Amino acid sequence: MADGRSPLEEEIRRRIEVGGPMPVAQYMTLCLTHPEHGYYTTHNPLGAAGDFITAPEVSQMFGELIGLWAAAAWRAMGSPANVRLVELGPGRGTLMRDALRAAKVMPDFRAALVVHLVEISPILETLQREAFIASDVPLTWHRSLADVPEGPLIVIANEFVDALPVHQAVMCADGWHERVVKIGEDGDFHFSIDRDPIPLFDRFLPGNLRPARIGEIFEWRSDQMALELSRRVVRSGGVALLIDYGHVQSAIGDTLQAIGGHDFVSPLLAPGEVDLTAHVDFQALVRAAESMRARTHGPVEQGEFLRRLGIVERAAALKAGAPHEQATAVQSALLRLTSSEPTGMGRMIKALALSAPKLGPLPGFDDESR
Ligand code: SAH
Repeated sequence: MADGRSPLEEEIRRRIEVGGPMPVAQYMTLCLTHPEHGYYTTHNPLGAAGDFITAPEVSQMFGELIGLWAAAAWRAMGSPANVRLVELGPGRGTLMRDALRAAKVMPDFRAALVVHLVEISPILETLQREAFIASDVPLTWHRSLADVPEGPLIVIANEFVDALPVHQAVMCADGWHERVVKIGEDGDFHFSIDRDPIPLFDRFLPGNLRPARIGEIFEWRSDQMALELSRRVVRSGGVALLIDYGHVQSAIGDTLQAIGGHDFVSPLLAPGEVDLTAHVDFQALVRAAESMRARTHGPVEQGEFLRRLGIVERAAALKAGAPHEQATAVQSALLRLTSSEPTGMGRMIKALALSAPKLGPLPGFDDESR
């Protein structure tokens, strides 16, 4: 280690010196999931002492409603005797724990399921194993969705897709160039642009995007995860529920952000020490799902989705008879999860479901009106 640089910073530096400036997606992959020094490999990001708070960590109501949603989806699937309840990126296991508790009201659903947790972080896997030590439902862990055995499945992913690496392209006079990370003359990391334009990039861009101006940024992710999810829900029957910060329509904009200690920091300053995310392009997910003949439901804003699932009634039940302080906490969690302020969770976060094509409407999505 030189100049107080972390081992990951040293490694990225070496790679850039040998291979040239590094695409943002590769930088993000190394920062988050490097097998020794990645952020998720070495940190528990969640909770008051961590870097950020997610919806299931705000209130038990979130996981409970998702548990009931999963039970309703299982009914819509024809109540298969064996179903895999899969969670991608389960964090501290809070959502799944609340979901399984709520699903106790549907014993036949609980009896049918095996839980599969897909987690890349050994630290979080340990926390999840502790959270489920007394569970009466069988659970197994995997590093990737591909390792979950084939068969009917219900997939839940909250704030998972926004942690998958994102590519960025910058509009220049001669077309779109990939955005890269380079070492500047001052020896620090800086954003830059790849020398050559990306061939035929205009053809890849969604038609509804207005012509971009010089300097503007477009972000995209690999379709691999959406294609694999869609293939599985179509082939084995099932549903996937993706909930994330993002936009309904593909859009221009740089949404790459780093959060450390509940504050925004520069994405280039402390690789592996801070969380990196970028908003989800739901239109791109829908396009990938439809190309695999999956049915899509939504996206809808989280506030609307949770209200349709009954969060207001659930909050009222939790408040009834509770001590004043607890009732106030339930009320403020309700507002936080459903807030329609421009930067509120209720508005910024969207829910999208994918299903087998013949599956009927799903709770929370306004499918009936189609
Ligand atoms: N769903 C949880 C945690 C969100 S944080 C919640 O809502 O609280 C993102 C989660 O995804 C973490 O558990 C992280 O370790 C996991 N993760 C990130 N990238 C991953 C990958 N490529 N494969 C599997 N899990 C991943």
